[in-house]
Amino acid sequence: MKVLVVNCGSSSLKFQLIETDPQRIETGSEAVLAEGIVEKIGQAESTIRYSNHKGGTVKEKPVILEHSAAVEKVIYHLTHAKHGVIEKVEDIEAVGHRMVHGGEKFSASAVITPEVLAKIRECVPLAPLHNPPNILGYEVASQVLPNIPHVAVFDTAFHQSMPDHAYIYALPYSLYERFQIRRYGFHGSSHRYVTSRLEKLTQTPRAEMNIITVHLGNGCSMAAIAGGRSIDTSMGMTPLEGLVMGTRAGDIDPAIILFLMEAENLELDQANNLLNKHSGLLGLSGLGNDMRELELALDSGDDRARLAIDVFCYRIRKYIGAYVAALGHVHHIAFTAGIGENSVLVRRKCCENLQGLGIDFSHERNEALNRREGLISAEGSRVKVWVVPTNEELIIARDTMRCVLE
Ligand code: AMP
Repeated sequence: MKVLVVNCGSSSLKFQLIETDPQRIETGSEAVLAEGIVEKIGQAESTIRYSNHKGGTVKEKPVILEHSAAVEKVIYHLTHAKHGVIEKVEDIEAVGHRMVHGGEKFSASAVITPEVLAKIRECVPLAPLHNPPNILGYEVASQVLPNIPHVAVFDTAFHQSMPDHAYIYALPYSLYERFQIRRYGFHGSSHRYVTSRLEKLTQTPRAEMNIITVHLGNGCSMAAIAGGRSIDTSMGMTPLEGLVMGTRAGDIDPAIILFLMEAENLELDQANNLLNKHSGLLGLSGLGNDMRELELALDSGDDRARLAIDVFCYRIRKYIGAYVAALGHVHHIAFTAGIGENSVLVRRKCCENLQGLGIDFSHERNEALNRREGLISAEGSRVKVWVVPTNEELIIARDTMRCVLE
C-alpha cells in the first residue's frame, strides 16, 4: 500500500511516500519512494526539497502562499513524468497525519471521521501551537485527496498505557478533573519504532522485554517500556518536562518561575519563551543548541560548552537510574535521534561507570558506531545498550495501513 505521510507545521509541510503492507513489514522490504519538505509557506519565497528513491532530486523556490498549494505541489512532484514515483494521484491509497496531542481521547491511531476530528479539536488547548497546524494539514490534504482514508497518528498515544501513579502530578486532584492536567508524554512514534526494531534485532517478542528508550534530538525524551507498553516517560503535560533539550530547560524547580515573575515582572509569553526557546543547551552554553557545535567548542576548551554537555548527560543518567527502578529489571537501553545516533561523547558520558546497574559499556563499540544500528555494550553486559536510528514516518505509515485494513 502506498501511504503518504504528512507532518504539517505552521509554515512547513514534511512528507514521505512509503510503500508498506504486512508482508513487506515481515520481510523488511518497506520502501520510501519519495520524501521532502516544503518550507516558508506563506512567505515571499517558499522552498521545496524533493528526492525520490532513484536518486532524483528537486530544489525549487516557488511562491506557496497556503498549505493547500503546498499539498498540490507535493502531488505535482510525486506524479511528475521525470522525477515522479507514481503515475497518477489515485495511486496514493491513504494519508497518515502526524498529530501531536491526542490527550486522553486517543490511545491508538484512528481513521479521521467528523467525530474523530471533533475530538482532535478538543485537544487543541493541550497543544495550542501544534495541533492547529496538524489539523490544517488534514483539512487541506483531504480536499486534495478526498476519496481515500486519512489517519491520525498521535505522539501521545503510546504513553496512554502509563499507570496513574506515573501520570498524575501531586497537585490538587481537581485540576486533573477540570483541565486534564497530567503527564501525557510525546515522541511516541519514535519510542515505538525503537521497540519494534529491538524486537527484530534480538528476535525476542516485545512482551518479554523491558526497555529504556532514549530519544535525543532537538527535543529529548526517555521512556520506560515494560513488555511493549510505556509505563513512564520524561516529557509531561507538554514537551517541556524532563531531559535538557536544545533550547528547553526540562526539569526545573517550578518556584523559579514564580520567583522570576516577581523579581523581573516576567509575563506569561516571556516565561514561555525563556523555558522553551532560550534554555537547555543554548541557554547553558550561550553558543547554540547544536550538539556538534558544543562538542567542537568543548574540544577548544570552552567551559560553558563543557557545562552544558555535563548537565545534559547527567540528567539522562539520573533518568536511566529512575527507569531501572521503575522497571525493576532492564534488558535493553537504546539511544536514538540526532544526538543519540551520532554523539559518541554523549553516549559514553551517559553510560560509562554504570556497572552497578548491570551496564557494561564498550568504548570500542561505541566509537565504531555512527548513524548505524548496533550494540555498544560489552560482550556479556547484563543490560544491552544499543544505537537504533529512529523512523517515526515508518510508524505513521504502518499505523495508517493497519487502520485502513482493519
Ligand atoms: P533531530 O531532532 O533528531 O533531527 O536531531 C537534531 C540534533 O542532533 C541537532 O540539533 C544536533 O544537535 C544533533 N546532531 C546531529 N548530528 C550530530 C553529530 N554528528 N554529533 C552530535 N550531534 C549531532
